[in-house]
Amino acid sequence: MECHKSNICSLCSSCLSRRYTQTRADFDEILLRHAEKVGVKVFEETRAFSIKFVNDNPKGRPLAVKWQNVIDRNVSGTISFEYLVDATGREGIMAQKYLKHRKVNMSLRNVACWGYWKGAGVYGVGTSRENAPWFEAHTGMFFSVTCVNLINNIYIEFPQKNLVATGSFLCTTG
Ligand SMILES: Cc1cc2nc3c(=O)[nH]c(=O)nc-3n(C[C@H](O)[C@H](O)[C@H](O)COP(=O)(O)OP(=O)(O)OC[C@H]3O[C@@H](n4cnc5c(N)ncnc54)[C@H](O)[C@@H]3O)c2cc1C
Repeated sequence: MECHKSNICSLCSSCLSRRYTQTRADFDEILLRHAEKVGVKVFEETRAFSIKFVNDNPKGRPLAVKWQNVIDRNVSGTISFEYLVDATGREGIMAQKYLKHRKVNMSLRNVACWGYWKGAGVYGVGTSRENAPWFEAHTGMFFSVTCVNLINNIYIEFPQKNLVATGSFLCTTG
């Protein structure tokens, strides 16, 4: 039993053989095409930019969304519906623009940099942990995970206050 013994993620071999790690773009593509297959109407390259509510009250029932094509901005329209599920993630159009009730969780106030790298190699070749993802967590977190196409997802995250203390590097907050 070698799980949880060291500061690297020591997934046991049975976990590793079941692991299937994809790049984010490929994974999103799989989910989207599956949704389409089971009957969801998918509109790509389309941005929702405002929501119409009963009596213009954002706490009331949403009625319709105005949308615009992001490639050709002359293509736009309105779609109405019975139910709205806002899945706009970090942008959170309902939470941020209308309900304005999103709260910042201070313990998640981190800065992260990440990217996909070719040629970074595979961890632990020839050992029982061959191809295990590498995780380190101290005040922040670092990981390197090899995806199925041998591209490595490399990620570093640390508290925002440490960035202010140490100075300059160009990052996206997550
Ligand atoms: C670098 C990184 C690594 C991560 N690693 C992990 C991990 O290993 N495991 C894990 O569980 N989580 C991980 N997360 C977190 C995870 O990605 C998010 O929690 C998750 O994607 C949130 O899902 P969501 O569907 O709410 O939003 P998202 O996946 O962000 O989807 C929102 C979608 O809405 C679209 N959108 C936004 N605004 C509009 C608009 N106005 N009109 C139309 N479309 C719009 C966006 O383009 C996007 O496609 C990671 C996040 C980052 C940034």
